[in-house]
Amino acid sequence: MIAENLQQVRNNIVRACQAVGRDPEEVTLVAVSKTKPVELLKEAYDADARVFGENKVQEIMEKYDKLPDDIQWHMIGHLQRNKVKYIVDKVSLIHSVDSVRLAETIEQEAARHNVRIPVLIEVNVAEEESKFGVKMEEVLPLLQQICEFPHLEIRGLMTIAPYVENPEDNREIFRQLKKLSVDIAAKNINNITMSVLSMGMTGDYEVAVQEGATMVRVGTGIFGEREYLR
Ligand SMILES: *Cc1c(COP(=O)(O)O)cnc(C)c1O
Repeated sequence: MIAENLQQVRNNIVRACQAVGRDPEEVTLVAVSKTKPVELLKEAYDADARVFGENKVQEIMEKYDKLPDDIQWHMIGHLQRNKVKYIVDKVSLIHSVDSVRLAETIEQEAARHNVRIPVLIEVNVAEEESKFGVKMEEVLPLLQQICEFPHLEIRGLMTIAPYVENPEDNREIFRQLKKLSVDIAAKNINNITMSVLSMGMTGDYEVAVQEGATMVRVGTGIFGEREYLR
């Protein structure tokens, strides 16, 4: 079941790339496994998933030791500063940097572990009250304050688009984030690349890929609906 879902998502990504003349190799599929038990993650692993997205520190810590160590764990959820220390040596990308203070904490913990941590800036493109992330116009000022942090590798931008029935309704959001990343890349700021554009979820990842996503975060489309009654 999970293997079939994964194959379908991969096929859809390839098709979305072909529609706009992109190379599917440019797009990384993040299997969003939050709330799902380790057995299901193993199933996905056996179907060649190697990048898993989680949104809770506790869950990463629990799953990390139970699964093979060639998995790349991505922190995709809101990150509290006091929990950074638990995952800094476990995650290969943090998608959700949205303040100088959080970046400072990641910098300090990464220095302590003598590692460099790849991060993305989370952007609330639609300026939804309920969502984390900085506004579009706040991205550059934030980058200018954190670009000198030696233990951060700033790799790009991430957004969680609004929930919509019709994925076309998010196309403009994805275009705006892509444009922002191109504009920032053109400034050639030290220590910053804009190589990653993390956008698109189960409902809209094909549109996101057409608009330039290099990372899509798909949960429901791979693992099925989530139950929150744990
Ligand atoms: C849960 C989650 C996803 C995946 O959502 P689906 O709609 O199940 O694909 C993607 N990104 C973030 C940040 C999430 O929290």
